[in-house]
Amino acid sequence: MPGKSTVTVHTDRETHPSRAVAPPIYQTAAFSAQDATTFAAGAVEPRGQDFYTRFGNPNHAQAAAVVAELEGTEAAMVTASGMAAITTAVLALVSSGDHVVGQKSTYGGTASVLLNLLPRLGVSTTLVDQRDPEAFEEALTPKTRMILVETPSNPLLQITDLRAVADLARAHGVLTLADNTFATPLNQRPVDFGIDVVWHSATKYLNGHSDVSAGVLAGPAEILDRIWDTSLLTGATLGPVDAWLLLRGIRTLPLRVPRHNDNGLALAEALSGHPAVTRVHYPGLATHPQHKLAVDQMNGFGGVLSVEFTGGYEMADAFLSRLRYPRRSASLGGVESLAVHPASMWAGMLSDDQITEAVPAGLVRLAAGTEDTADLVADALAAADAVHH
Ligand SMILES: *Cc1c(COP(=O)(O)O)cnc(C)c1O
Repeated sequence: MPGKSTVTVHTDRETHPSRAVAPPIYQTAAFSAQDATTFAAGAVEPRGQDFYTRFGNPNHAQAAAVVAELEGTEAAMVTASGMAAITTAVLALVSSGDHVVGQKSTYGGTASVLLNLLPRLGVSTTLVDQRDPEAFEEALTPKTRMILVETPSNPLLQITDLRAVADLARAHGVLTLADNTFATPLNQRPVDFGIDVVWHSATKYLNGHSDVSAGVLAGPAEILDRIWDTSLLTGATLGPVDAWLLLRGIRTLPLRVPRHNDNGLALAEALSGHPAVTRVHYPGLATHPQHKLAVDQMNGFGGVLSVEFTGGYEMADAFLSRLRYPRRSASLGGVESLAVHPASMWAGMLSDDQITEAVPAGLVRLAAGTEDTADLVADALAAADAVHH
């Protein structure tokens, strides 16, 4: 089994062989068939490559093949965004009358699927404190079909015990889906702990250059076939150029992630000693309440940290305004550092009450890019000094 850097550079070659060194872009909505039999077969081939781009495209298949190899799954598929991935998956795998368990600390869009979309469709949901494995067990009902986990969670960097949740789910015949966006397959492989399906906002680290919206799902072929069936109806199709850009970004994932890890840890360590800061949430800090669990299931802790300031929202906002390198932006995972006030961003996806439950008002999320560590640390410390009176 080749190493991860070799996988990201070569795994797609057999997926759609060509003599071109860089994969060609199949910018076409449809493919022609030579006869009726081939045409009929193309219409029902899950994640095929040459029928109709909403059904599949060579650029999709190439990016998916690399992600499947990195995540250690039988199959993978790409979607138009991370939200397209999770929404298509839940619509495919649960029905009215079912029950789904998720986390209190989770990406705002995922929280909205759990709190707003699914209940409207007759699927009941329970959100639990992910730090407590027993909370997942207590939430199970005879109708529970699925558990959605996210670790580390956005934006509080709380950790879910993947093995405990996967074992519990398996014992009860419940499917598990893990959002692996923050960790990337370089830092954590959820299927190694028994999770069934992994998904990503590939907009973030997998693409890594803040120039594509994309999602991926990785897991057993039988489950992905069902999700693919529903994706034909949701039309969550990634454009061929974006799939090509995604693969181009993934090529350097193993080079980028260690730098993100170094920068995230350095910023977390520097800011946690600062008098303007009440608390830094970062699983790589020995002071993180779940540091040991993080060490057990992760190889690195990523570029994202969140910071609480002594002066609440005003001080957090002043800090954001003072930063020279991280720009104020909703995304993360690119080569450039970004920073955001999560409570403002979540407002697009959740009601005020739902946000107050999930995100402290004074929290700043920092997403360290791949800049030089010393520059990022000096910048963050200068901004913290400036807001500290
Ligand atoms: C951004 C993000 C998503 C949503 O992905 P999109 O590509 O923006 O649709 C889901 N989960 C996490 C953890 C994210 O950071």
